[in-house]
Amino acid sequence: MRLLVVEDEEKLAKLVKRALVAERFSVDVAPDGRAGLELATTYDYDLIVLDLLLPELDGSEVLRRVRRANPQVPVLILTARDAVVEKVAHFEAGADDYLTKPFAMAELLVRVKSLLRRATVRREDVLRVADLELDRLTLQVRYRGKRVDLTAKEYGLLEYLMANADRVLSRNMILDHVWDQSFSGATNIVDVYVRHLRDKIGDDDQKLIRTVRGVGYVITAEEPA
Ligand code: CA
Repeated sequence: MRLLVVEDEEKLAKLVKRALVAERFSVDVAPDGRAGLELATTYDYDLIVLDLLLPELDGSEVLRRVRRANPQVPVLILTARDAVVEKVAHFEAGADDYLTKPFAMAELLVRVKSLLRRATVRREDVLRVADLELDRLTLQVRYRGKRVDLTAKEYGLLEYLMANADRVLSRNMILDHVWDQSFSGATNIVDVYVRHLRDKIGDDDQKLIRTVRGVGYVITAEEPA
């Protein structure tokens, strides 16, 4: 899953990114409101962490415009202010949750995960496709009961495929969701990682993760036609 962090305090932004990456999220960081808004309206993020006091464009304005473009994406507000009136105003403007600075990273992670869980009604903690099982809480993957050890990117790719089981995903969709903005290589990185996944899972005959020629990939439990 791909998250956006809009935070102008460089040190804090780095800490937040590190904590989220450790939980296997792909994370983009925007250092000001304008850059944040541009990213938020360009990519399909799963969640946005938004500071309120930002240069270029205020966090409240970013929130308002993000909401207009994307009413669904969960937004977690970071703020040094804790005035009740402002909180109410921001909840009305579409913030999903609040975190008052300074906060513990552990709390940020709890809030992020709970927002993500709430966001998608369909979001399940354990994804299953055929004999493949991915647990979003423990970040563990099992195939036919046997544990499969994956790198963060492999896990992200598999989670995206499994969350969209039976749906054909293009290489660009996969790149947008699983890789962050710092990636600027070729889309065939997706093919490389799919190969790794198939190897590790033991999907040699490619019955589980299938190539859709000219398009991308789909994971499915259905028997090939
Ligand atoms: Ca700030």
